[in-house]
Amino acid sequence: MRRNQTRSGRWQDDAVCWCAGWLIALLLAGCGRPDGAPDLQEFSFGGPVMGTSYHIKVVLPGDGELPEGLSAGVHERLERVNALMSTYRSDSEVSRFNAAEGPVWMDCSAETVAVVAEALELGRMTDGALDITVGPLVDLWHFGSGGGDADDSVPSPEQIEAVRPVIGLDAIDVRMDPPALFKRASGVRIDLSAIAKGYAVDRAAEYLLERGVGHFMIEVGGEIRVHGLSARGGRWNIAVEQPLPGLRRSQRVLSLSDLAVATSGDYRNYFEVDGRPYSHIIDPGTGRPIEHALASVTVLSSSCMRADGLATAMLVLGPDRGWELALEHDWAVYFLIRDAQGWEQRSSAAFERMLSAED
Ligand code: ADP
Ligand code: MG
Repeated sequence: MRRNQTRSGRWQDDAVCWCAGWLIALLLAGCGRPDGAPDLQEFSFGGPVMGTSYHIKVVLPGDGELPEGLSAGVHERLERVNALMSTYRSDSEVSRFNAAEGPVWMDCSAETVAVVAEALELGRMTDGALDITVGPLVDLWHFGSGGGDADDSVPSPEQIEAVRPVIGLDAIDVRMDPPALFKRASGVRIDLSAIAKGYAVDRAAEYLLERGVGHFMIEVGGEIRVHGLSARGGRWNIAVEQPLPGLRRSQRVLSLSDLAVATSGDYRNYFEVDGRPYSHIIDPGTGRPIEHALASVTVLSSSCMRADGLATAMLVLGPDRGWELALEHDWAVYFLIRDAQGWEQRSSAAFERMLSAED
């Protein structure tokens, strides 16, 4: 049995899918504007992108008008990320790199190289938990662009071993000037699904700031960045979901401004064989979907790309190694860990500090 509200569409062009979000932007407009707060109005727009959907809220003074071309401009920025990095489009830069014979250096856009460089850095900081060469394994477990079939079979240990030679952070290198990517051998591929939505959010935020918009919320497939004030005249309220398949209930509401928040979870995108769930998050160490009690990880950061990549990495590492590493690096993380009663919540000092700094 497959539970995969998000799986079919991620990165797929022209497919409007149920939003991948692990986070819910709570709409609290009208719920008591603070006394003396300026009169504000909210404009919303969004649409399909990157196999998922995006939602933007822009807050302007009561008499303000949405700057001309703003929503088209945001869409263009998001589409550019998709056009460069989608593995569902054979003409994307990443798909061309993946198809190239190796070893080879290929000239690429500065954008793709920046995302790959960040992913490699996070990969090294997390003992290879975030590994963008994991694509052949993602396909073997039926979650990728190449293996996106309705098959729910469990791959054999031999099949997993057979793809190992093309997996590992040292199979890829980056050069910034001029921007280029290196692959060590033919068959080495990159999959930026764990980090590119966060990057797309950052690009859209950059665009809005350039256009002089200072109060907004951007959400792409559940990864979020907020700036300035919400229409209530206060911080933005973002809810972290309870880790329950098929339900959307708020576990904790985060009150934020000028921050990004990303969540990775194992409870939406998975399939079951004989009652056992197989998640879309792959542990590159075992070549298999993660198997531990950590159900979701939420990360706060000034960079949505970093928050997105770290959330996936922490989810791979699990409740013990992930937690230790987060404390060692003082990362702002919030874990939901399954236990006999349901789940336990655990937040790092950096997470609570960032929230209280917002007060
Ligand atoms: P979601 O896309 O569900 O919001 P993530 O940001 O955690 O969640 O990204 C998950 C996607 O990243 C998977 O669908 C897969 O394509 C890819 N992936 C799976 N495991 C890894 C891993 N260990 N490192 C990097 N990417 C991964
Ligand atoms: Mg991620």
